[in-house]
Amino acid sequence: DEREQTLNQILVEMDGFESNEGVIIMAATNRIDVLDPALLRPGRFDRRVTVGRPDVRGRLQILKVHTKKTPLEGIVDLEVIAKGTPGFTGADLANLVNEAALLAARDGKKSLGMIDFENAKDKVIMGVARKSMMLSDREKRVTAYHEAGHTLVGLNLPYTDPVHKVSIIPRGQALGVTMTLPNEDMLNLTKEKAENFISFLMGGRCAEELIFQEISNGASNDIERATDLARNMVCNWGMSEKLGPINYSRESNYNVYGGQGPAQFSDDTSKRIDNEIVETVKSNYEKAKTILQENADALHRVAEALIVWETLDAEQIKNLIAGVDIADLVVVDTPDALLVANKNQTQDVKHIFEQLKKMQHSTSELHQTVHRPWGTYTTLEEGPFYKIKRIEVKPGHALSAQSHEKRSEHW
Ligand code: ZN
Repeated sequence: DEREQTLNQILVEMDGFESNEGVIIMAATNRIDVLDPALLRPGRFDRRVTVGRPDVRGRLQILKVHTKKTPLEGIVDLEVIAKGTPGFTGADLANLVNEAALLAARDGKKSLGMIDFENAKDKVIMGVARKSMMLSDREKRVTAYHEAGHTLVGLNLPYTDPVHKVSIIPRGQALGVTMTLPNEDMLNLTKEKAENFISFLMGGRCAEELIFQEISNGASNDIERATDLARNMVCNWGMSEKLGPINYSRESNYNVYGGQGPAQFSDDTSKRIDNEIVETVKSNYEKAKTILQENADALHRVAEALIVWETLDAEQIKNLIAGVDIADLVVVDTPDALLVANKNQTQDVKHIFEQLKKMQHSTSELHQTVHRPWGTYTTLEEGPFYKIKRIEVKPGHALSAQSHEKRSEHW
């Protein structure tokens, strides 16, 4: 066995050192659980440093390192990117910057903007969009309801990760994606959270069944993940009341060199484990179903909006669930202030545009076009402030936060 040789070689080499030679040996592993105890004895690798995934401050610092040699547009806020990438490792962040650079280069841009990072994030998390893949109207409807089902269940259960974006643009193998921001840590997974996550995974299939009274094969990945989670709950995490806090995992019999030992429980217990796993998935399926039945109107609104817009962000979903017609919303966003209006406020928005026009001097030369998920605007740089030249708002987009700093007096 190759691994055994490696292990013996390391031990021989380490034992060869005199204690005063001043040689420090460092090694890294992702699988501390399968390390041979011989390596862990005092005098061998006797200092252990656990390196977890970086938190938001860590990610910001990592992003700073990876963007050091990358030209960024002035508007790029690394802190926003750091906040939007929980669960990313250093390697993931390096990859994100790399992808953003590739996307910017493809557009012939000389520097990276927020939109490049946003698109790179979608690509890294959800896979490459397959825009050429055509869905039939029927497939599109089923996919829209499937993803809307995930979204509604996720938003109605506590302890599920917030839905960040939902899309029916095919990516990789999937026809649609409901993207939740990966959780900071799965270390503290409670029983309730695990159960709610199973409901979330079942939400897609559930919506298909409720609306179309038929079942497609589009939920196979959801079912696989839900089953794995339920199995872990029962076998590894002692979350089943019936079976108690016992480890029923075959993996606990792993020997050092890989491979599984025989199961250490009876056929009867084995049956009870299987029943409990089925029960866990089924009961959470029912929970998802109840949520969708109670929120049928919102389910229809989100699904129909998906059919029209194909991708919805968290803000749009929130508005749709609240019954706001997202096509009615207009947004004006500048580095100085952020303003939201709906149809009956467009007069105010127009007024602000007029004011801005008056303030603009034709002497300014520096233009910058800023891409945001909701559209683009072109700014004129002048003094400490940017002034807007032109705004293009994509229909259906809304942001409601008022983010004002001192600069808002500029209005
Ligand atoms: Zn799904």
